[in-house]
Amino acid sequence: MTKKVGLIGWPVEHSLSPQMHNAAFKALGFDGEYVLLPTTNDQLKDRIEQIRADEWLGANVTITHKAAMLTWLNEIDRAAQSVGAVNTIVKQRDRLMGYNTDVIGFQQALIETGIEVKDQPCAVLGAGGAAQAVVYALKQLGAQVSVYARDVTKAQSLEAKPWCEIDRINSATVLIVNATPIGMWPAVDASPWPNGVPFPTNALAFDLIYNPGRTRFMAQAEQAGARSINGLAMLLYQGAAAFELWTGCTAPLAVMRAALSNPTEQ
Ligand code: NAP
Repeated sequence: MTKKVGLIGWPVEHSLSPQMHNAAFKALGFDGEYVLLPTTNDQLKDRIEQIRADEWLGANVTITHKAAMLTWLNEIDRAAQSVGAVNTIVKQRDRLMGYNTDVIGFQQALIETGIEVKDQPCAVLGAGGAAQAVVYALKQLGAQVSVYARDVTKAQSLEAKPWCEIDRINSATVLIVNATPIGMWPAVDASPWPNGVPFPTNALAFDLIYNPGRTRFMAQAEQAGARSINGLAMLLYQGAAAFELWTGCTAPLAVMRAALSNPTEQ
């Protein structure tokens, strides 16, 4: 029986996860398939029941269901509990376990950039599931983190500042993370960074978005002379960690990276 893994979210059509994971299954000769599972809030309960069936190894979870997963699964890993969001579901016998591989994915992508965040001011734009993982990851690395959210009452646990205060971000900030979907395909002309506000030159702009590969947020940073990175490396590392949880096999990182660089070739 072909084992299945899926991506639960809405929307999911932009995702490169199927290419990445299907290339990994193929490279290892593992009889598995990664599929898209577009799921609205109303469909979430039925979707969870669906992946309890024998052929499923688990799932990834994306917009906007990561926090809701805490209430739907049988057990939540300690890190995912602290983050308050689940991005990976693993089926162990008839139990569904929740993990958060965004934390390790973000940390590994950040380490690759060579940036040092310990005791440094960092800013996170957005306060959803991915932002919670990024804040947790940054705090583990000893960063001083400020979060900006359009609804601060919803983001109280992150002690978020109002969105309109983005233009007051400290010019010594070393890292600014876009953890919102603003600028994601197809709305590629949008950016969370306000027009006319100078981007801190010494900050790395880290956009969690990977489609498009160069977002308007990244372009704004580069125009100010700052460095930028998109979400592909984070996608790779969070995916590799999830793959290992589902299959028990070492993730073929080079194959997965190549699948992300040449998605149409898979
Ligand atoms: P989410 O849980 O829905 O959270 C989105 C956040 O963005 C919320 O705080 C939301 O505010 C805020 N937001 C949305 N539109 C906004 C706007 N116009 N102005 C201000 N704030 C706005 O989504 P998520 O799962 O955290 O994902 C966020 C982004 O990260 C997505 O683009 C996703 O694809 C990307 N991501 C990438 C990776 C990777 O591996 N590269 C991993 C995870 C996520 P409200 O709560 O007020 O709506």
